[in-house]
Amino acid sequence: MPIALVVHGGAWDIPDDQVEAHHAGCQAALKVGWQLLRQGASALDVCEASLRVMEDDPIFDAGIGSVLTTAGTVELDAAVMDGTTLRYGAVANLRRIRNPISLARKVLEGPATMLVGEGAEQFAIDHEIPLIENHELIVERERALWEAWKASGAVLHHGQPRNIQQIADPPYASEVGGHDTVGVIALDQHGNLVAANSTGGTLFKLPGRIGDTALIGAGLYADSQIGAAVCTGWGESITRVALARRAIDLLERGLAPQSAAESAIRSLARQPLGGSGGCILLAPNGQIGMAWNTRRMAYAYQVEG
Ligand code: ASP
Repeated sequence: MPIALVVHGGAWDIPDDQVEAHHAGCQAALKVGWQLLRQGASALDVCEASLRVMEDDPIFDAGIGSVLTTAGTVELDAAVMDGTTLRYGAVANLRRIRNPISLARKVLEGPATMLVGEGAEQFAIDHEIPLIENHELIVERERALWEAWKASGAVLHHGQPRNIQQIADPPYASEVGGHDTVGVIALDQHGNLVAANSTGGTLFKLPGRIGDTALIGAGLYADSQIGAAVCTGWGESITRVALARRAIDLLERGLAPQSAAESAIRSLARQPLGGSGGCILLAPNGQIGMAWNTRRMAYAYQVEG
């Protein structure tokens, strides 16, 4: 059984001057995860460790450095699914957790499948995960963007002012930097496939808004018999087509991972939806498929052999 690991750092219009940092961030997460995988760690441990690296890297829209809501706050969502037990743990609307993926992992091990808001924070306290202040998750880059928008109702994008309506709407939403949700799929030596995601959501989202990232079947799905998928992009469109589950269904029908990923993205783009994003698949034999209809997608992967 080959071991395999794939990580991504979002599918949007990653600005030219941030491409290197995205590469480096994906490589760093891959390195940490691969080392563990080679030492025989479980896919669950590997996903958590890799995602923590990306949550701690302010270049990504996950953990510290996430985009801000219209209220100027950070609200985080994350999830993890174990393809062998089909257990699932998700958290959403977190304002005071540094590494949401670790809390999602605790949820997976507990009685619930999804916890949100204050209940999730209480669950964190009960599991000795410390709470931080929301401002500790905010970086200067995002604060400046938010303040510019607040002051003028517009932000500069490629030298052109774009107003809030344009930003909230694709395709502009995909063109303003910083929408870089992170995801991981790991296949361990025992054939366990695990998928995990973490995000700060979309730029200037409404407080309380939850996208696809933490939703089973939309942002992620894992079944060690069939394959695992993680998705990123415009969450409202991804959720409407249950993109991750759709991609897994295509695998189950016999499509190769690359064809399944491409077909899933075509269904996302179809009218009337006109969605945008990316999808990564990993099959039990270590084969990878990936497709996106945004300008760029950041990723790194390694497969034994
Ligand atoms: N899918 C995420 C969301 O809509 C954003 C992203 O993937 O960049 O919350």
